[in-house]
Amino acid sequence: MEENLKDRLFNKKESGWKSVDDTEKKNIFDFSKRYIDFLNVSKTEREFVKAAKKLADENGFKDIMEFESLKAGDKIYFINRDKSMYLAIIGEESIENGLHIIGSHIDSPRLDLKPNPLVEEGKLAYFKTHYYGGIKKYQWTTIPLSIHGVIVKANGEKIEVNIGEDENDPIFTITDLLPHLAQAQMEKKLKDGVEGENLNLLVGSIPYDEKECGEQVKLNILNILNKKYGITEVDLTSSELELVPQFKARSLGLDESMVAAYGQDDKVCAFTSLAAMMELNNVKNTAVCILSDKEEVGSMGNTGMESHMFDFFISEMLNKLGINRPNLLDKVFCFSKMLSSDVDAGFDPLYASVSDKNNAGFLGEGISLNKYTGARGKSGASDANAEFVAWVRNVLEKNNILYQIAELGKVDIGGGGTIAYILANKGADVIDCGVPVLSMHAPYEVTSKYDVYSAYKTYKAFWNE
Ligand code: MN
Ligand code: MN
Repeated sequence: MEENLKDRLFNKKESGWKSVDDTEKKNIFDFSKRYIDFLNVSKTEREFVKAAKKLADENGFKDIMEFESLKAGDKIYFINRDKSMYLAIIGEESIENGLHIIGSHIDSPRLDLKPNPLVEEGKLAYFKTHYYGGIKKYQWTTIPLSIHGVIVKANGEKIEVNIGEDENDPIFTITDLLPHLAQAQMEKKLKDGVEGENLNLLVGSIPYDEKECGEQVKLNILNILNKKYGITEVDLTSSELELVPQFKARSLGLDESMVAAYGQDDKVCAFTSLAAMMELNNVKNTAVCILSDKEEVGSMGNTGMESHMFDFFISEMLNKLGINRPNLLDKVFCFSKMLSSDVDAGFDPLYASVSDKNNAGFLGEGISLNKYTGARGKSGASDANAEFVAWVRNVLEKNNILYQIAELGKVDIGGGGTIAYILANKGADVIDCGVPVLSMHAPYEVTSKYDVYSAYKTYKAFWNE
């Protein structure tokens, strides 16, 4: 019997930490520190775009609108309504051979304020909310929340709001029923325990004055907002104010091997791809980085991936390269390769029954590729071709990057989707490729620093191919 037959034939799956030396460990931890710092100033899509623009400007990228013409080596970006962003480096080879695209999303589940948010109930003032994306509502009560976003006045004046992140700011919270009186609530199904209509943010309790003319607490809050921002109640109807967890991103565990943070779906893939793009030079194929918005609610609208804004960016590139002609955009997409860089459900031993262990992504075992997503019978799936999976494997293997190929949960249980299908429908070869996450969509999500670094290495290797 051949002694090492098992070694030779099995697809070995093991912790990446085992083969990490001191230098590599330092690289992993240093990179994660940068990631944590970035997350702490980029909790919303608008803040992410702002921080990404700063980084891109520092690294020689310029707005595509500033260019008359483009040539190999040029580093460009386009910002779409302050909420999504595309970056690119023009390749040495003809763009007709296709683009190398990495696409993530920078929106995350949260609570948005309703258009008419401010109410007074029982002598307390509240902001009413409408949740954004797939959340477990009970997770959003009794945690510190901060308010981020913009208020735009009818005259166009835009006011940026960020309350709760600074140590000297107040924070906000949504109350929950005390256990003593929660007997009926506790009998309910978990999904009905907290109603969406009850996710009201507590924002004040002092009446404006002692006169009994009604809604004095609400009046006091409006007075504070008026003094601080110069707005009246109607100005809130043209605002985008988002409630996000106030917690800071932190190292997790006694061994500090993990990251706990809000919004790692999908800012972990957005940051790692952005960081990789900042270090690229002289790429063969034109490298494109997508930071999209609205993925969590179906990618619709003019900042979502379904919109024509991305096509516009690539067309503008073709125009400024001086090569555009009818149908060239279609051709470019059909010959493109893409990593849809979105997070994967990490295997959670506490909830092992929802995963097929042989096809699950594990924390610390490297970048996780999902050949397909979809749900129950691959419904709605973008299923990568075997040939393309092999091509991606080859890139990873020759760069010594540990990877795992997984699917999201057991066959009959559920599933998910990303922006993969959108580019696949345009004709590109696409595979999902991201970091495994625990507690996905919760106010505090968990990743492994090993996998965060693997994602960065994977994206860099893909673009350098
Ligand atoms: Mn995602
Ligand atoms: Mn998600």
